[in-house]
Amino acid sequence: MAKVIEVGDNVSHVKPGQLVVPAWHVACGTCASCVSGRPTGCTNVPRNAMFGLPAGGDYGGFFSEAVRIPFAGYALAPLPEGVSARAAASVGDNFSDTYGAVARTLRNAPGADVLVIGGTGSVGVFAVTFAKALGASSVSYVDAFDPECVELARGLGAEILDEAPPDREFQVTFDASGSPDGLRTALSAVAPNGTCHSFGIYWQDVAVPAYSMCVRRPPGRRRPDRKRDHVVRRRTGRPAQEGPARRFRRRHPEVGVGKDPPQGPQGTPGNRLRRPSIVCSRR
Ligand SMILES: [Zn+2]
Repeated sequence: MAKVIEVGDNVSHVKPGQLVVPAWHVACGTCASCVSGRPTGCTNVPRNAMFGLPAGGDYGGFFSEAVRIPFAGYALAPLPEGVSARAAASVGDNFSDTYGAVARTLRNAPGADVLVIGGTGSVGVFAVTFAKALGASSVSYVDAFDPECVELARGLGAEILDEAPPDREFQVTFDASGSPDGLRTALSAVAPNGTCHSFGIYWQDVAVPAYSMCVRRPPGRRRPDRKRDHVVRRRTGRPAQEGPARRFRRRHPEVGVGKDPPQGPQGTPGNRLRRPSIVCSRR
């Protein structure tokens, strides 16, 4: 939120004294990335040009008394009548970022069941809000860091979980924790052909839990090769010949089909092949 002090020659939609919302990222509004709805990938400003964090240049922000808004004709939105500055405090970043991500994801998966991993304050709670409003069939929320956000999510109708259940899959998962463990949990919990979306800003590279994502057996599911071995024995009376699955187990005893992953973040058992999708959107 900000109040306009003065405007440049090419800015006509706001005037001094008006309350406005600047977008967190600096973007031009005319390049191909901006026109396609991805202003965070604007090609006319340095990468990661933003207010508050000096990652792509020093534009001021956070507690600055005044900032200059480049491309203000595109990046500055006047506050509508009747909306307080307090109510619009998050519109320039957390609120709009979360809405864009949840709306895009649920547009491709209408009625999906959703898991939100919270932990960075408002983003997880906004994700619950928008998922409920946009027709998710169920919304579950995990947050080990912020009890206040847990209560807010509960009040919005989310199912509160202590942790992501290892025997349950979700069509859509959102990581709003900003932590490597949160992202790994969200990736491991996504169903085959599901989508995991991350809001997080990670300050280190995150190891992707490829084993847990692709190899999992829900409880009670039969091993697929056992039935075929049984049929061969009954017809011939001889031991089954070595097939691809048996050969793989012999050659790779450390990861043999049907064994638990050595270091699964959720201890996921398994041998069912899964094909989760990952959406990586850089803010
Ligand atoms: Zn641009």
